[in-house]
This record gives sequence, C-alpha cells and structure tokens, in this order.
Amino acid sequence: MTPRDKLESIAINLWWSWDPEARSLFRRLNPEVFRAANNNPQAALATAKEAVLEDPAVQDEIDSVYARYRDYMERDPQVEDAPETAYFCMEYGLHESLSLYSGGLGVLAGDHAKAASDLGLPFTAIGLFLREGYFRQSFNANGWQESTYPVLDPAKHPVSLVSEGGGDPLTVPVHVGTHKLQVRAWKVALGHTDLYLLDTDFDANPEKHRPLTRRLYQGGNYERIRQELVLGIGGLRMLRALGGEPDVYHANEGHCAFLMLELLRERLEAGDELEAAEEWVRDHSVFTTHTPVMAGHDHFKPDLFTEAMAGFRDQIHLSNHDLLGYGRVHPEDHEETFTMTVLGLKLSRAANGVSKLNGHVARQQWQDLYPDRSLDEVPIDSITNGVHLPTWTAGPTRDFLADHIDVDLTQSQDPDDWDGLADLSDETLWNYRCMLRERLVDYVEAKVQEQSLPMNPDLDPEALTIGFARRFATYKRAPLIFRDRERARALFADADRPIQLLYAGKAHPADDAGKRFIQRIYEISQAEGFEGKVIFLEGYDMEIGRMLTSGCDIWLNNPRRPLEASGTSGQKVAAHGGLNLSVLDGWWPEGYNGRNGWAIGPEPTGDYGEADPEVQDEQDAASLYQQLEEGVIPTFYDRDADGLPADWIDMMREAMTGLPAPFSAKRMVRDYVEEMYRHGG
Ligand SMILES: *Cc1c(COP(=O)(O)O)cnc(C)c1O
Repeated sequence: MTPRDKLESIAINLWWSWDPEARSLFRRLNPEVFRAANNNPQAALATAKEAVLEDPAVQDEIDSVYARYRDYMERDPQVEDAPETAYFCMEYGLHESLSLYSGGLGVLAGDHAKAASDLGLPFTAIGLFLREGYFRQSFNANGWQESTYPVLDPAKHPVSLVSEGGGDPLTVPVHVGTHKLQVRAWKVALGHTDLYLLDTDFDANPEKHRPLTRRLYQGGNYERIRQELVLGIGGLRMLRALGGEPDVYHANEGHCAFLMLELLRERLEAGDELEAAEEWVRDHSVFTTHTPVMAGHDHFKPDLFTEAMAGFRDQIHLSNHDLLGYGRVHPEDHEETFTMTVLGLKLSRAANGVSKLNGHVARQQWQDLYPDRSLDEVPIDSITNGVHLPTWTAGPTRDFLADHIDVDLTQSQDPDDWDGLADLSDETLWNYRCMLRERLVDYVEAKVQEQSLPMNPDLDPEALTIGFARRFATYKRAPLIFRDRERARALFADADRPIQLLYAGKAHPADDAGKRFIQRIYEISQAEGFEGKVIFLEGYDMEIGRMLTSGCDIWLNNPRRPLEASGTSGQKVAAHGGLNLSVLDGWWPEGYNGRNGWAIGPEPTGDYGEADPEVQDEQDAASLYQQLEEGVIPTFYDRDADGLPADWIDMMREAMTGLPAPFSAKRMVRDYVEEMYRHGG
C-alpha cells in the first residue's frame, strides 16, 4: 500500500478521531485546510502536497499510525460472549466535522458506540443522516442568536452509501401517513462498530417528503412523528436488509421506540398470536429514558398518531385503538396522547435511567404504569452515563498520563490504574494544570477572532478559569451567577484574586428564552467590571467542548434539580484534574465525595415535585456565591511557600484518581452488557 492508500483507509474510519497520533498526522498534512474543515482528515488528505507525503518523517508516522490502526482492528474482544446488539438513537455526537447531534444525548450515543468498539462488542448502531445537522450558531448585532444550516457533502465525509452487492443503493420502504417512502442508508465506521444513518433525501421520494431526515428537532410534531417512523421502522427494516438478526435491540430514548412496533409486526407476520408476539418483543428489547420533565417526552395527539400510522396500521393488522394503547398509561382514556416512552417501557424487558437520581425520578414519573407496585418496585433501573476517555482526553493529558501511569485508554482498565497520580508532587500536578489552562487561554483568544459575536478577551493564563458550556435550555440556568449582579461584579473586580468565566452553548432555534439568556450573557460580557473576563464562545461543538473541559479549573453546573438527567461534561473535566462546582444533580451526587469538588445547594432529598423555581433559583444562587467566596476562590489563591495551592492540588488528586474510571463509557457499556443486554442480566 502506498502512504496515500494507508491514509485513505484510516480517514474513512472515525477511529482516527480518538487516536491522538492519527489526529496530529492528518493535521500535519495540511494544517490550514484541516482546521478550516472542522478538523476533517479527508479535506487535509485531498489537498496534501506530494512533497509532504514523500517526507520520510511523515512516512514513518503514517506507518506507525497505520500499524496502530490494524492492531486495534484485529484485537480480541474484551468481553466474552457478549450478546449481539442493535442500538438505536436519534442523534450521534461523533466529531466536530460531522454535525449529527444537538447535545448530551447525541454525545452519549457516540461515546457508547465508540466504547462498544473498544470492547470489541458485536454492536451495530442506527441513526438518521442529518445532512443539515442541528444548526450553525451566529449572532446579529444585538447578540441575538441566528441559525444557518450548512449542508453536509457526503463526498467530503467518511460516509458511504449502502448498496446491494456494490450495485444500486439498498432501500427499504416505510409508510408515513399513507405515503410509502423509500429509505436508504449511509454507513459510518467507528472502529469495529458500524453506524447506519437513514436518509429519505433522494429522488425516489416526492420533493415534499425528501427533507424528512435533514434536520434534528426542527418543525413540529407532524414532522417529528414521521421522522421517528423512519428511524424506528425504517431502521429495523434496514438492519434486516443488511442481514442483521441481533439478540437485543436497545432503544436509547423514546424517539426510536417505533422499532418495537416493527418487531411486533414481524412476529405477527410470522404467525405468532398477539400475546406471544408481545412477549417476544419484550424479551429482545431494552429501553433507556433520559427525560426528567413530563412535557419533554415525545407525545402525539391521538389524531396525529392515527393519521401518521395509517400505512403501518394496514401492515400490522391491529386496530387503531390497540396501537394507541401501547403508548398510553391508560389505554381506555381516549384523550390520552401516545407517548414514546410508554411504548418503550411497555415493550421492553428492562429499562433504565442514566444516573441513580434520574432512575429515581423516572420511577416516580412512570409509577402509574405499574399500579400494583410500590415506588421501589417500578422496573426502571439506572446505569450512570460515562464518557469515552480516548475521545475526550486532551493530547497533553494523554502524554502526561503516559509519563506517569500505565493506562491505555482503549484497553482494559482497572479503576486502580489511576492511583499513581496521587503520588505525583504538588509541583508536577500544578505545572500540568497551568499548562492546560494556558493552552485554553491561547485557544480562546484566537477562536473569538473568527466569531460574529464580538469579544475582547482580557484573559490571564494564571487566573482561576471557570467554564460553563452546554445547551442553553433554560433549566440549566446559564446566567445564575449574575443573579446578584453586584455580588458577581465584586468577584470579577478583585484584582488580587482574578477570575474569568468562559461560556459556550446553543439555544434551540425555537427557544427565545434560551436566546435571551445568551443575549444577557453577551451584555454582561460588555459591561464594566466583567469586560474581557466573561467570554462567550460561539458555535459550541466537540472541539470547543474538548478545549474547555480540559483547560478549565472549575466546571460550573447549576441546573434546576432534578432536570439534569446525568450530564457528562463534568466527567470530562475531572479526567483532566479540573474540579466540578455543581448542583447535586445527575451524576454529581455519585461522583462528589466532599474532597474532589464542590456542591451547590442542598443534598438531594428524593422529592422534587413541588419546589418553587424562584425559591430554588434564589437559594442556589446564594449557595453558589458562598461556595465561590469561601471555597473555590480562597482554595485556588491560598498559596504555600513554594507558591502552590496545596489544598487545591489535593482536590485535583482526588478528582483525577477517583473519577475517570467509574465515569467512563467503558464502565458504562460494560454495565449495559451485564445488566441489560445479557439475558437475565
Ligand atoms: C460532553 C458534551 C455534551 C454533554 O454534556 P452535558 O454536561 O450534558 O452538557 C454536550 N455537548 C458537547 C459538545 C459536549 O462535549
């Protein structure tokens, strides 16, 4: 193979995205083009000069990366006799060059699929070919968020159209309403894992229906239910057309739960009685719910459901009433909507929330479905989310780990593997932390020059650096720290103990309240006392996510409890020795031990029904100020004779040794295999 052939074979497998050597190799081929294309290897390779490819040093690097790739692909599985699994999800966060996600759910699904590959599981993933993705964020002169939708060009991305024996594209039919659409698929390779992305946007379909799979979470329920028919029913049909007969079907969140109705249809068609067919579907399906707000579960009015399901109903030969019943808590209630989560719960053998607290909330939400059981007996368990460490660990941190401990992030791990970090000297740990912060400050200063929202950063590479990046859903309360503006100003104005705060995040295009939050932060970033120290980074994506979570000293997370199902960004921070300052919501009650970060507000009580949001905001803001004034800032600036913050460094040790393994996607996916995918698990 020529060097170019080797590079081409690596560039079409996203394995490169979690291998730091592969990433830097592609960057080296053509740094400007690589960057301009959101770190896309194919763009760099297409424009690489022959002189670069002929450079012996580059060729050595190509050989080395290629050997690592082959080695990875040929490795033995790390889990014995794992059941074959098909995983369905609406969105996947894989890399900044492929915008197929809006936030945590997608990033989690991407991390799950990558960890499944690292473990060598027999695992296939299904999603949508969101050619226009979520949206690209920009701002008008008033700091008001605007959206554009750049179109993904398949020729420039690691996607290949799935065809029948190399000939015509493989297609499967799906009825949406009374229309029969054709669905095709694009394959993305994630190490060993194949991800199939379903697509209606081609000439077999009438113009009016083609855009169905183009964008994520846009339009109303009319589009949404149709998109979900393509995902669930089209996804299963595509899997069958590819010869897939997995042992277990995992519906990650309700969007894809129609897959269970298609399984039911298959069994009925094969001649099963209804009860036996339901039993079979349950026996082969597992379901994950993430949504702690009742209104956040996809639910469809009976009329809309009836109309959208017309074609499918003719195929499954069930009455409309019976079909509706699968999505209703009370099937006889003719007013009740069809809720995808109810479908997922009714037709699966096991269900889970994504943190212990979220599991508890889900049991409360759905207790009515199990009238003869107590709250603790509601059959929804929990598996706490974790992050794919090879994807999220910054290059310099990988080098740092390699210098001091023996851990290969894609290989088998023992939680004790990180223990050696506790033995490092204060100076070693502090120098490492300062290096990451400096790297981030440089990045931010360059990055804001390219954005439409004007920023004049006046950042100090030695100042306490706080990060807040996530979707701007209002329950996450991005501006909470400015609730008492003068108290906040006093913190930012303290020249002896400087702090700086970096924001990033997108509001949903229809969420004006979320956009007002960004606008308020923009105004504050221009106001006296905050200017240059409060920065909003435009276009939150996985690159910005990697930079902020690796470089910030403090990761601020102040959702209105219990609305953060898990949250994973804080886990990325801990893996770099950053400290969380967070409401005890999502994963943090499991991670926080009093010595590895800070808590905002009270301990969870288990009862979240009645809290008045205004009261909660006031209390949490007061707690946040107190933690900053009495905990975070003094600990950071209290220096010993060597100029080192000894107490802070102790907390870093605690976070860096104790949190990465239990909150890794590898632990999470192993839990899924043992507790959900294995029969009787
Ligand atoms: C990690 C990550 C998320 C999810 O983290 P949350 O804590 O749930 O917000 C979302 N978006 C990006 C870009 C991420 O890197």
